[in-house]
Amino acid sequence: MQQVNERFYILYIKIATIVAALLMVLCIAGQAIPGMRGVATRWDLSYTTFGIALVQVLYGVFLYKRQAVKIGYWAATLLGVMLLSVNIVNLVHTTGMFHSWYLIAWGITLLLSGLFGSFTIIGGSFLVTIYFILVSTDALGKASYSPHNIIALSSLYLIGVISYFASKPFYVDRESNQIAQLTGQLRNNQQRAEVLIQSVSDGIIMTDTKGKISLLNPAAAVLTGWSVQEAMDLDVQLVAKFTYEDGKDLPSSEYPFTKALADKTAKESTLRLTSRDGKSNPIVSLAISPILTGKGDEIVGFVAVLRDVSSAREEEHRRADFISTASHEMRTPVAAIEGYLALALNDKVARIDNKARDYLTKAHESTQHLGTLFQDLLTSAKAEDGRLVNHPLAVDMGEFTQKVADGLQFSAEKKGLLLDFVIGGMNGASGENSAGTKVIRPLYFAYVDPDRMREVITNLFDNAIKYTPAGKITVGLTGNEGVVQIFVRDTGGGIPAEDISHLFQKFYRVDNTATRTIGGTGLGLFICRKIVELYNGRIWVESEVGKGSTFYINLPRISAQEATKLKADEAQAAHAGLT
Ligand code: ADP
Repeated sequence: MQQVNERFYILYIKIATIVAALLMVLCIAGQAIPGMRGVATRWDLSYTTFGIALVQVLYGVFLYKRQAVKIGYWAATLLGVMLLSVNIVNLVHTTGMFHSWYLIAWGITLLLSGLFGSFTIIGGSFLVTIYFILVSTDALGKASYSPHNIIALSSLYLIGVISYFASKPFYVDRESNQIAQLTGQLRNNQQRAEVLIQSVSDGIIMTDTKGKISLLNPAAAVLTGWSVQEAMDLDVQLVAKFTYEDGKDLPSSEYPFTKALADKTAKESTLRLTSRDGKSNPIVSLAISPILTGKGDEIVGFVAVLRDVSSAREEEHRRADFISTASHEMRTPVAAIEGYLALALNDKVARIDNKARDYLTKAHESTQHLGTLFQDLLTSAKAEDGRLVNHPLAVDMGEFTQKVADGLQFSAEKKGLLLDFVIGGMNGASGENSAGTKVIRPLYFAYVDPDRMREVITNLFDNAIKYTPAGKITVGLTGNEGVVQIFVRDTGGGIPAEDISHLFQKFYRVDNTATRTIGGTGLGLFICRKIVELYNGRIWVESEVGKGSTFYINLPRISAQEATKLKADEAQAAHAGLT
């Protein structure tokens, strides 16, 4: 479909408006100046001509306010051509038809029409064709014109057609295509959005701030098992039912839409969706974004995009399965090699010369490293697909962290590093402040698996020892009503700022002299993150190169009452298990 270039459109409308205005002036002059009367009659400078020209001028003024952007350039031009044609055809008709001088004006109009694209020719010519048909069939009660004359007149169209094809290469330029595309988009934005929403393979759900569904696309209908019509205006919690990936119930405060509303921010999560009939429960990745008003940051609703990631998850499971089976299988021969190497290095068992001892010591160290790598690989594969053994209990984190720190004292001393344990801002675990008076130590309970948390703290501690040549390591515990915070601080080399965001990724190791000489797998912090996330916690690091690093872990705190209740439940469950 041929579109109209903006520049030509403006030019055309300008010319047409000026011509019409001139006609109006001539009409007024023809009527007002007595000497002009004859001329006015001959050229039909009548009230009718004045009226049509006035409409044309008003139309030009109306378009001047960029209305054409709304109605489209070709439609605006078409209307302009039609108005001009009405005027000229009327003049041709009233001033002697085939002998009229206005026929020249009509020819010029067609010529101009051709310059402005096919639609304008069709539009302008259409009017005239209708007119001629009406006239020639005597429909208006006028005398019929001979077919020859009609053919001759109609051939005037040829002017338009020729000018159209001759001018096409000039106005169909890149600019006009771009403008055409733009105007096309403007007109069809809504339609396009509709097509997009309907055909996209991701589910889209839109709600108001109360959670009432205002839009649900077909993909979301398939995922939820509700039809689009039925789901409309229903509460989103009824239509999109989520559980955690492992099938555990999601507390209503954790419901993604509720959370997004409470925090007024976009939320991303991966959850399991239960369909209406309960038969399918795909794992979906869910991204919820608030819809804001143009004026400020007032939220008027939410839009959620759901993507079925079940097959991707399955693939991940398969990969993790392979890694865990492979590392599990490889651990056994590696342990055997390590054992035999240890035996070979034992003076009481074997006699070897110094050179051989040197080689075997290196082989022993490498085998130990390989063993750690397989162990870490196994743990990280399990952590990734949620198969990490996890038996959470209500744990007094103060007592627990101190015990873990005590157990680590030896390795710190071995490297000549000082170890400090700080709880709730106090030094040591005795509960004595600097003045020596007894202070009641706050109880920080968290619902975690102590074995897993020991792994995390030990890992952070081992890193602190590894990457601190001299100085002090501080293990600490603080918190507030909702959070228990554990931190491990060192006075080591620190971590460059650009590495910090990647530190908790798999196999990431900072590339510097320290890591090149110190062995490691790059899996420790990844495993730490996975474990901490298991308890809805957060792990992060603050570090300054040359000064040291502090690794923080925030865990949800549970109250003493909750802890007591959980402990009673645990005791009861253990008792039931024994009997
Ligand atoms: P690795 O087995 O290499 O220690 P981790 O995942 O435990 O693997 O740590 C990743 C990287 O983070 C390390 O290679 C090291 O560069 C950096 N890192 C971790 N802890 C510290 C620390 N306390 N001080 C400086 N760098 C650290």
